[in-house]
Amino acid sequence: MGLFSRNKPKIKVQTTKKDGYSGWVKCTHCNDMVHANELQQNLHCCPKCSYHYRLSGTQRVELLSDEASFTELFQQFKPLDPLQFVDTEAYAKRLESAKKNSNRDEAAIVGTCKILGKEVALGVLDFSFMAGSMGSVVGERLTSIIEYACLQNLPLVLVSASGGARMQESALSLMQMAKTAGALAKLHERGLPYISVLTNPTTGGVTASFATLGDVIIAEPDALIAFAGPRVVEQAMREKLPPGAQRSEFLLERGMIDCIVNRHELKQKLFQLLDFLTDNQRVFQEHTALKVMYGQSIEKLPHKLKELLALAETQILK
Ligand SMILES: [Zn+2]
Repeated sequence: MGLFSRNKPKIKVQTTKKDGYSGWVKCTHCNDMVHANELQQNLHCCPKCSYHYRLSGTQRVELLSDEASFTELFQQFKPLDPLQFVDTEAYAKRLESAKKNSNRDEAAIVGTCKILGKEVALGVLDFSFMAGSMGSVVGERLTSIIEYACLQNLPLVLVSASGGARMQESALSLMQMAKTAGALAKLHERGLPYISVLTNPTTGGVTASFATLGDVIIAEPDALIAFAGPRVVEQAMREKLPPGAQRSEFLLERGMIDCIVNRHELKQKLFQLLDFLTDNQRVFQEHTALKVMYGQSIEKLPHKLKELLALAETQILK
């Protein structure tokens, strides 16, 4: 038998592609070989190291909503180029290629759906459309779904994946930060809960506005969450950031987010939180009032209320 002969059967890989693509891909996180089908079945998380790969807007909607329950709204708002902006390429051209590449007409998908039977208003950002950046139409669609939630008495879930404001729309893009934040203040006044889900990456004007205004802020594991990215901060401060800075785990330790949830458990966790917050208005209102009164210093709370908070956190947030 020759040294290099092989009498074991060859590994058969099921693949739908006919161009010789074997279907195996190298995980960019652990460098292990993973099959594309396995990755897909595992909700685009690496089966070896559990690294969470990015989902498109449509995949995110499919992940969170009950089958055939999602109705998309406010699609009538389409992107325009009011400033006739040109950088290395015309904005109008960039929009065209983004539409082609992502199969979407903008970076925000909003609508209503059911999460394990519970009716919610849902908004997701699609990173594949111009890095999920917030231009006027993204801002308008998000504001519209927040206002719709107010009118229909629905809890709100927004899932972010964004590079921040859309520079091609200049100040028009920055105004969306105030607009979405203002709409969320109205939702808050109506006592309706808002859960914000931060995915990799959530940065810039999105982090600085609606994404961090949730009553509960959830993040996926190892997601980059920042205002300015690590390279910019390091250049500005002229020092290295500590390891893991601006990642979910680091931010959880410092109280910027409430919990980290694995993608496989995200839908169930959202349901639990929504159920708790909508069917227990008294606890929710007290919890919100306490957060306003005491901020982060839970130690100052009266004993009974501390117990209530601890119960809420052990039952739901952990
Ligand atoms: Zn991996």
